[in-house]
Amino acid sequence: MTVKERLVKVKEKINAAANRVGRDPEEIKLVAVSKRQSLDKIKKIVAEGILNFGESRVQELREKYGNLEQEVNWHMVGHLQRNKVKYITRMDRCELIHSLDSLRLAKKINKRAKMEDRKMNVLVQVNTAEDENKYGFMSEEVIDFLREISSLKHLRVKGLMTIAPYVEDSEEVRPYFRKLRKLANQIKANKIPGVEMKELSMGMSNDLEVAIEEGATIIRVGSAIFGPRNYNK
Ligand SMILES: *Cc1c(COP(=O)(O)O)cnc(C)c1O
Repeated sequence: MTVKERLVKVKEKINAAANRVGRDPEEIKLVAVSKRQSLDKIKKIVAEGILNFGESRVQELREKYGNLEQEVNWHMVGHLQRNKVKYITRMDRCELIHSLDSLRLAKKINKRAKMEDRKMNVLVQVNTAEDENKYGFMSEEVIDFLREISSLKHLRVKGLMTIAPYVEDSEEVRPYFRKLRKLANQIKANKIPGVEMKELSMGMSNDLEVAIEEGATIIRVGSAIFGPRNYNK
């Protein structure tokens, strides 16, 4: 299948899922996760009108950033080490960090964003499946965490992010997405200064339809758009 054909399929899935629950498909942002994919392939996807790309490693993002003729928006979707934050805050076109997963990281992003005289948009990563091998806060920790970082003036909390476990039947991950949406509603009700709960980043190639049905505003789709990743390099 060509990139174009894959993209058509993904869009059909987005439309179908949105229609099932009476949502406008236009309100769902598609982030094409380009990790371990070549610049050439990214260019083909840009030519199809996709302008949001996600990377999970800072080094790879640095290699790609600024190397496309057209300006695109970048999303940091993977675990972020504190010593690499400076590279991210220097990127004007890095629109959103999806993976805020500790207080120390929040402080570092705030400090570096201040040095760059900008505000950095972030999502708080929640380990909804309580998987020991995954990053992110446990749901019950999130409100306290948000209160702690609410005074950090160079951070803008836009919402929450979660990564569901990989399963064959995507119906199985519905409870995790639902949990994220409920948590966002609970946070909204707490009216924490400086904290917005507009975005729910959830849903990947395998489970994007269920995620949209449960309220995803951002989906992060890699292999369904690009095809298999190249793990040799
Ligand atoms: C790789 C990755 C994705 C995309 O995964 P696919 O299954 O290829 O769609 C989404 N989110 C994060 C955080 C990732 O690391």
